[in-house]
Amino acid sequence: MDHAPKNTLERWLTGPRIGTLPSPSSLPAPKLSFEFFPPKNEKLEAELWSCIRRLEPLGPRFVSVTYGAGGSTRARTHDTVTRLVQDTSLTPAAHLTCVGATREEVDEVAREYWAAGVRHIVALRGDPPAGASQYTPHPGGYAQAEDLVRGLRRIADFDISVGAYPETHPAALSADADLDFFKRKMDAGANRAITQYFFDTDVYLRFLDRCLAAGITLPIVPGIMPVSNFASVKRFSAMCGASVPSWLEKLFEGLEDDEATRRMVAATVAAEQVRILQANGVDEFHFYTLNRSDLTYAIAHILGARPAAAA
Ligand code: FAD
Repeated sequence: MDHAPKNTLERWLTGPRIGTLPSPSSLPAPKLSFEFFPPKNEKLEAELWSCIRRLEPLGPRFVSVTYGAGGSTRARTHDTVTRLVQDTSLTPAAHLTCVGATREEVDEVAREYWAAGVRHIVALRGDPPAGASQYTPHPGGYAQAEDLVRGLRRIADFDISVGAYPETHPAALSADADLDFFKRKMDAGANRAITQYFFDTDVYLRFLDRCLAAGITLPIVPGIMPVSNFASVKRFSAMCGASVPSWLEKLFEGLEDDEATRRMVAATVAAEQVRILQANGVDEFHFYTLNRSDLTYAIAHILGARPAAAA
């Protein structure tokens, strides 16, 4: 048929067959992890802890705390992670980057984490500090995440996660070169990868195919970003190389001043994304919570996660 479908019946005859998604209760309970950023002031700290307390009963495998660009949140990340060890039942993971520090300084931070009972590090190269457009390795530092993973392996038996880029890291020479470097992080001793967020599920599923073909065998956990503020997600996506499909932009059109509807749309979009992934056999999800619990809680619930007491 060489013309656009005119009506529902024509669309049905010519469109793809998607089938029914299985009910969440027929699938294994998802493994969840939640990402937070360290708070800048007391008000944000209160918000973060109310978010942590709300999500804690969902029993995530781990919760991670980011490390500000250029290592700018070193103390705040450390404080948040150690409080997670001391005051909660959660397993924290500390993000650690190579930026702006010698190997000895980075090793020292890792040793402090180990001594404080932190066993999981998310090992990253890191983004350049504010104002710098390009990444420059510190002369005495770890140059890339791969080197950091090797360094951590020498320090202690950490559980190590690394970043992965379904749409290719924006600074990569090519998609294949990026996969090679990803594989080198696995060979250096990473236990799992967490992906940059993406909005088209096909992008992630195709990435898994490419990883398998490249001999990458570690778990690749999809990073899920519930879009609470479309304008800021669009800005951030341009920097981190995540594409924003036009269908997503259309969904948020006209909702600039209507946060309540925006959040309902955000939950619906993310729920659809995770359900399609779940139907494709994905049972691990890492949520970029942005320190707000409502969307993450709702989406985790749709996936079949229930608070420990209720379960
Ligand atoms: P790498 O794996 O080291 O790769 C970076 C680039 O260099 C890629 O293009 C790669 O192909 C290339 N490359 C790798 N090795 C070599 C080599 N030997 N020679 C030449 N090129 C090479 N940033 C923060 O600052 N703080 C955070 O807390 C933080 N958390 C994140 C969490 C997740 C899940 C993800 C996906 C990203 C996070 N980031 C964070 C962003 C991350 O720091 C940036 O994406 C950064 O630009 C790359 O980090 P990486 O560890 O993936 O780098």
